[in-house]
Amino acid sequence: MMNRSTIVLPFILCLLGTPLLQADEPAEVDSNRFQQARSRTFLAFDSQTEWTWSKPYFFMQLADPQYGMFTGNQGLDREKVLVEQAVEHINRLQPKFVIVCGDLTNATPNQARYEAQVTQYQQDFSLIDSKIPLVCVCGNHDVGNRPNAESIARYTHHFGDDYFSFWVGGVFHVVLNSSLLKDPSDTPERLQQQQAWLERQLQHPRVKDAKHIFVFLHHPLFLEQEDEPDQYFNIPLERRTPLIALLKEAHVRAIFAGHYHRNAYGRAGEMEMITTGPVGRPLGKDPSGLRIVQVQETSIEHNYHTLDTVPAAIE
Ligand SMILES: [Zn+2]
Repeated sequence: MMNRSTIVLPFILCLLGTPLLQADEPAEVDSNRFQQARSRTFLAFDSQTEWTWSKPYFFMQLADPQYGMFTGNQGLDREKVLVEQAVEHINRLQPKFVIVCGDLTNATPNQARYEAQVTQYQQDFSLIDSKIPLVCVCGNHDVGNRPNAESIARYTHHFGDDYFSFWVGGVFHVVLNSSLLKDPSDTPERLQQQQAWLERQLQHPRVKDAKHIFVFLHHPLFLEQEDEPDQYFNIPLERRTPLIALLKEAHVRAIFAGHYHRNAYGRAGEMEMITTGPVGRPLGKDPSGLRIVQVQETSIEHNYHTLDTVPAAIE
């Protein structure tokens, strides 16, 4: 015969829920959230319904959380605190989507701390409200300075496709793997594939009717001048010049990048080149922050906010 405690104790455990999490145990990773970039599109947005204009919206762009950068891969605490702050703003403001323009981790896929940093990134970004799609873009730390088939495969295993496109309310969004543009020497055929894919995308009749076309990548094509000399933070002129010509011809409205760990701005004709400072470790005067991009039918407005000055609400 069961005594009272054999009945009551399981009942209490059941009420508490199992397994019982300690306060310092990490949040669960919503792995589905990180597998949305598939078949060269982003599954959270239905291309059949999203290609027509509905109404103004805003999204939030982050760059370079780069887990591990503050300590040379010895710890992740400072990145974690900054991302938690960003996530609070995201959940309060409820953007149409969030996009992180690369260098999700500091370690590259061939380095020892890579998997641990990916896990921390995914745990922290899983705290974003599940209704808000999270778009991840690969940077040079995510696929290596000279990407190859193996490093790209490690990235896509965790985060889905390295280049893809999606529609949101009549606006066409293109995500590129800019590390292939920076240095394709280990896998030139992948750059050719991305290039051929991009040309097909931009020639699509629906894309010609898009209210705006935005491009997202990690490396800025240029920081301030479209013909500025090659350096670490931009794309070599050899590949930059023809790409800018292609994007101008398609009437791309704006290009969003990171990598610089500072803000920078330039134009190529009507096309804006917007380089966003880091949510992680800054390398210049701009403190850690994020960018809010408001999209109207015929115009856009974008502002970088430090994590302490993000507005309480968006009009
Ligand atoms: Zn970078």
